[in-house]
Amino acid sequence: MFRESVVVVSEYERVVHSPTQEIRLPSVLALKEYVPSVQKPAFTRFNLFLRDGFECQYCYDSFKANDLTFDHLIPRSRGGRTLWDNIVTACQVCNTRKGNRLPQECGMTPRREPHQPTIYELQRNGRKFPPNFLHESWGDFLYWDSELVD
Ligand SMILES: [Zn+2]
Repeated sequence: MFRESVVVVSEYERVVHSPTQEIRLPSVLALKEYVPSVQKPAFTRFNLFLRDGFECQYCYDSFKANDLTFDHLIPRSRGGRTLWDNIVTACQVCNTRKGNRLPQECGMTPRREPHQPTIYELQRNGRKFPPNFLHESWGDFLYWDSELVD
């Protein structure tokens, strides 16, 4: 934020102080290249997990980002693409259990139909978490914020 490489998209009510200034804690940051809120959010792990509320879409449990992975609804081996509408957040256990099967083959249907989220939707989801949660979950900025490729 202070290097001005990111823009604050959304803030928490909570305020933090430095010796010289007072700022509201940001809850959602965007890299400048991605910024305009009319644009679609970048397809990153972090945004994917945020879309799904850091909740495994199969067992409905909540996890920290490090314990989550992403699952292809239609497995890659069966022609599934790495796109917003074919990817859901899953815990390691569910991801392994589902393996290379289609949802109808294993009876594992995601809680919510995967979809391309809007920036507003991600902002709304981001505000549901306490300030430190997302910060701690997001240990490796480059990893979580690298664009997923199909
Ligand atoms: Zn799970």
